[in-house]
Amino acid sequence: MNPANFDFHCHSSVSDGLLSPEELVRRAAGNGVTWLALTDHDDVGGLAEAAACARDCGIDFSGGVEISIEWQGIPVHIVGLGIDGKNPVLQAGLESISNGRIERARRMDVSLAEVGIEGCFDGAMRYAENPSLISRAHFARYMVEIGVCPDTCSIFHHFLVPGKPGYVDHRWATLEESVAWILEAGGVAVVAHPGRYRFSGNGMRTFLAEFKDLGGQALEVVCGSHGSDHVQHFARLARHFGFYASRGSDFHGPEESYVDLGALAALPEDLKPVWRLLS
Ligand code: AMP
Ligand code: MN
Ligand code: MN
Ligand code: MN
Repeated sequence: MNPANFDFHCHSSVSDGLLSPEELVRRAAGNGVTWLALTDHDDVGGLAEAAACARDCGIDFSGGVEISIEWQGIPVHIVGLGIDGKNPVLQAGLESISNGRIERARRMDVSLAEVGIEGCFDGAMRYAENPSLISRAHFARYMVEIGVCPDTCSIFHHFLVPGKPGYVDHRWATLEESVAWILEAGGVAVVAHPGRYRFSGNGMRTFLAEFKDLGGQALEVVCGSHGSDHVQHFARLARHFGFYASRGSDFHGPEESYVDLGALAALPEDLKPVWRLLS
């Protein structure tokens, strides 16, 4: 395994990415990624295609997933790395979350219609290659198409987030469930993009302590949505808690990502890189 330029967080069209698993792996290889993990939201359906393509392209590959959970009322994402996508406990768990997505999308449609934005369920569905993984990202793409905002980023400033039209509650997994499913499938649990959570007060430390107690082992220190302040802050927390450090672009598509595959900064040198836990 070659960790020179590893990227352990990205999405294909199996969830809300714009490229198929194969296109994604080819782009990663072309951009110089040496070891990729595909981490679609709540679905492992792209892993076999991605793994086969990685073999073809001569890069290393690990199975992954990004699980949607809620902790103290706040949506959080937990990445699982090195998982066996065929594990039945993991698969049943993921199904239990994605089951409600279509019904949630209908409620999002009603909420948007209330502010005069019509047709969002059908419009978003056209962007969802895998309908059971219909997500806010697909709604955002449709809303850009009909001219509500110029880009998906501005959509998330005015819509689809707590307190704004188009946001509805949903029952995601718990932290405990997500870590248990990942461990059951032989994987390593990683807190995704910790800089994006708005925990109050000591919330982040409480959250990380609980995550560690449950068997969580790593923190995304370098990721697409982290500036250098975030990197330093989460590097300190990784040292404090003894976490391994991960690095992932969270790439969704060429026009829609904070950073391209292969273009991430290095991890701070003294941290323990999470690839050491993967074979
Ligand atoms: P969902 O799983 O349906 O809650 O949708 C979450 C997805 O929406 C994320 O994985 C991102 O792809 C996208 N998303 C959420 N918040 C933002 C944001 N502020 N800017 C851009 N994309 C976002
Ligand atoms: Mn996404
Ligand atoms: Mn995420
Ligand atoms: Mn992601």
